[in-house]
Amino acid sequence: MHPVSMINYFSDNKILFQKGDKDEIIREINIRLAGFGGNVPTDEFTERTENMIKQFQRDYMKVEETGVVDMQVIEAIDKFQEEYPIETYFAQAKCKCSTFTNLKEPTCDGFGLNKTNNGKTGKNYASGIEYPGLHRTLFWVLRSIMFYIDSDERYQHLTVDIVSSGYRCWTDNNYHNRVSTNHMGKALDIHIIKKEKAKSEHTNDERIVCCDLVRDILTEKTNAEYRWFHSNGIALENSYTRYHPKKGRDNKSIASNWVHYDVRVFESKFLENQFFVKTEKDANGKYLKELVKN
Ligand SMILES: [Zn+2]
Ligand SMILES: [Zn+2]
Repeated sequence: MHPVSMINYFSDNKILFQKGDKDEIIREINIRLAGFGGNVPTDEFTERTENMIKQFQRDYMKVEETGVVDMQVIEAIDKFQEEYPIETYFAQAKCKCSTFTNLKEPTCDGFGLNKTNNGKTGKNYASGIEYPGLHRTLFWVLRSIMFYIDSDERYQHLTVDIVSSGYRCWTDNNYHNRVSTNHMGKALDIHIIKKEKAKSEHTNDERIVCCDLVRDILTEKTNAEYRWFHSNGIALENSYTRYHPKKGRDNKSIASNWVHYDVRVFESKFLENQFFVKTEKDANGKYLKELVKN
């Protein structure tokens, strides 16, 4: 094909994928736009995928909502990836056990040692698989948080400061006498602050307010829910003022001045090893435009 006609072919409104289709590229789209309404890494173009595309067209692309994937949508997803880099956040999300002193156990490379259930049995140990990396969906949701902070005037004074906790392996857990297993690849904790001043200049209450606003982004824009009563969506830990409308607040577990979100309620087929990655490059994947052309 002549280069010029090739450009025309890829820049027209030809429908590449629509509801009912099944393809590995659709799986990629379901991962990359998960922050727009919420989704799971299926290769099927579902009603949820259609709504997600519509929300992305409406909010990010600012074009007419068609709910189908054409080359414009493909290019916009690649642009979304470039516009909101996650490199620094990914580095911060690695397990920090190798920085501890006086450890009795071997340290990991940032993503656990493939242990299951701490290598032990008994009621004192929660069942916990060390997944081989961090779930890709977490980072694409992080991108959508950055986008909604940028684009909605209710949130424009905010910024994502750091990922304070990403991966926490069994060595890390045992060091801290902790048995929770969400953070073995399925969760991120992020700090949200006001753009105009350093974190140290915030009061604790100010930081809680900033985090509550991002919890609102996640419930409004990603359909995240508090705690783990739902399935196949993003889950949030409670704060003092934000919690499940029916189940209420559990005062024992409050994430106040950080935002905890996770993919714990994904079905097991959406928690397969292929979705857990150890590098920012693998979290991103190849540009969709390349995948489509191949
Ligand atoms: Zn570790
Ligand atoms: Zn957490």
